[in-house]
Amino acid sequence: MKVVLQNLTKKFPSRDKKDRRDVVAVSDFTFEIPDGKLIGLLGPSGCGKSTTLNLLSGLQTPTSGKIFFGDDDVTNLPAENRGVGLVFQNYALYPHLTVQQNIMFPLQNLKGEAKLTKAQMEEKALEAAKLVQIDGLMSRKPSELSGGQQQRVAIARALVKMPRVLLLDEPLSNLDARLRLQTREEIRRIQRETQITTIFVTHDQEEAMSISDLIVVMKEGVIHQIGKPQDVYDSPVNLFVATFLGTPPINVFHGKVEGGKVYIGSEAIGSVSGVEDQPVHVAIRPEGFVLDEKGPLTCDLDEVEVMGRDITVVSKHPDSQNVEIRSIISADNKVDLSTGKVHFSVKNHKVFLFRKDTEERIYTDLV
Ligand code: ATP
Repeated sequence: MKVVLQNLTKKFPSRDKKDRRDVVAVSDFTFEIPDGKLIGLLGPSGCGKSTTLNLLSGLQTPTSGKIFFGDDDVTNLPAENRGVGLVFQNYALYPHLTVQQNIMFPLQNLKGEAKLTKAQMEEKALEAAKLVQIDGLMSRKPSELSGGQQQRVAIARALVKMPRVLLLDEPLSNLDARLRLQTREEIRRIQRETQITTIFVTHDQEEAMSISDLIVVMKEGVIHQIGKPQDVYDSPVNLFVATFLGTPPINVFHGKVEGGKVYIGSEAIGSVSGVEDQPVHVAIRPEGFVLDEKGPLTCDLDEVEVMGRDITVVSKHPDSQNVEIRSIISADNKVDLSTGKVHFSVKNHKVFLFRKDTEERIYTDLV
């Protein structure tokens, strides 16, 4: 089921006596989620992720704009008629019901032709439970399950009616690190198997990047970039997107373009053509540094962290906007700790320039 958002806007009235302006939680969102894909809505707290999901599910109505599921305009359709499955951060299972009863719950209110017999409900519940691999736990109560298992029950409950669209709001937040990893792989598998168009909300960029076909990067109710995770990482449109994606984060320096050269401090790290002289943000991905005795960028060496295959060189530079510069290089390299200095050259395609005033990308090739 293709999902289309058309100029979707949601404003909330201000409760601030001094500032009467509305809060624009979602501002003019227009994009299409292709049929059968998993899309990650990603952004810092307050950017409008949950509001977007609530608009899609029908829990909230938009101030303006439209939502289509396929060719159906569902903008004014009540939530219960939209055919969406919802999974929240807190699993919200009924504690007094068994796993089976929890999963069957959405089927019990079906009316008319859709009404099911108890045997049919049990069969559907078992199918959904098998999909998330909890069919061996059907008679347990939620309190007898781990967090990961509880979240699987919540997913099975959302899937049992075979929704047209599956909406997941920070579904992994209550899980520990290992379970998060495992469960996100599970969600990906289930989504691939069922081919249900899925919208996944998270503030965790790594999580969104790892399972989404497409990511939507948002801030303060505004979409900044939509694309395949790797494409957005490799070609961010502005400084916010560049800094929001990537662990460790991208290293940003105060720099300038002068006479076709890109400077950090007094050191020219490369050349560009067609760019006017101006102050810029120079952003370098951690994997964009190359240890190079004759390299132009000289930093004060703090420490070297060994991570097995790679090492992280932690250093400082007076023009760095990050507290410390983290560069990831292959463990085959040896770092001389004795001088207190480290010299780098850069991989050109891992360096981005952004305007100082608007923070928009300056598209140019560093050579
Ligand atoms: P988080 O990651 O913290 O859950 P989010 O990206 O999901 O954040 P939303 O919950 O969608 O953000 O909120 C977006 C903006 O709208 C925020 O500024 C929030 O304060 C505001 N907002 C949300 N709901 C309401 C409401 N009912 N009334 C007024 N303002 C609201």
